Amino acid sequence: ARSAVPLEITGLGKRYAGSTDRYAVRDLSFRVERGQVLGLLGPNGAGKTTTLRMLMGLITPDAGEIRVFGHAIRPGAPVLSRVGAFVEGPGFLPHLSGRANLELYWQATGRPAEEAHLDEALEIAGLGDALERAVRTYSQGMRQRLAIAQAMLGLPDLLILDEPTNGLDPPQIREMRNVMVRYAEGGRTVIVSSHLLAEVEQTCTHLVVMDRGRLVTAGPVAEITGSGDTLLVGVSGD
Ligand code: ATP
Repeated sequence: ARSAVPLEITGLGKRYAGSTDRYAVRDLSFRVERGQVLGLLGPNGAGKTTTLRMLMGLITPDAGEIRVFGHAIRPGAPVLSRVGAFVEGPGFLPHLSGRANLELYWQATGRPAEEAHLDEALEIAGLGDALERAVRTYSQGMRQRLAIAQAMLGLPDLLILDEPTNGLDPPQIREMRNVMVRYAEGGRTVIVSSHLLAEVEQTCTHLVVMDRGRLVTAGPVAEITGSGDTLLVGVSGD
């Protein structure tokens, strides 16, 4: 149902094969409401990517439960069609335009062209005229935004972005922030990971802070950044 909670995680745990001593994610529980931009914050190795990959149905948890719009997540679950995901470095064909790359990608999903909502996704991504140029002429920031536009095709109700500002300079980071805020307008939900508090505090409505696989704190951004919590100094200085 449309009214169901975008994301609810309960007691989530993951230990990679071969690392017997340590959980990458341990006893993680949190909830994300409709219209929120949730920042998943933590230093390298905190378990952010592992968490997001479980949300996307790419890897299977060893413990706990993930519900997306009320449906349990497992690889190939139908509800995953309502989830868009950005993961680092998708391959684009360099000699084709940005628009042509996205069209090809969507064709490969086998869904009807009009369901891509291509123009709206492109508008939100803010690439403008560059869309008609070959991807090989793009800056890093433009490539990242094209990758975000790709994740936004179909206008998924839940958009998951794993460190989308990695490798970007401050103006490009600002652009990326605007893209996320625009996307969440109208009641869509965004989850974005970062290891820098400064990057997420202006964009996100809520934060989940992780360290060594565990939840450190969670809540509205203003509550967390205003609490004088010294844990965040370590996170933002990572
Ligand atoms: P980063 O910011 O570096 O991406 P992260 O918060 O996303 O960090 P994860 O990548 O989820 O953290 O890693 C959590 C822990 O799991 C780390 O200790 C990492 O070494 C370990 N890990 C991640 N992927 C694997 C894997 N495929 N096999 C074994 N261990 C892994």
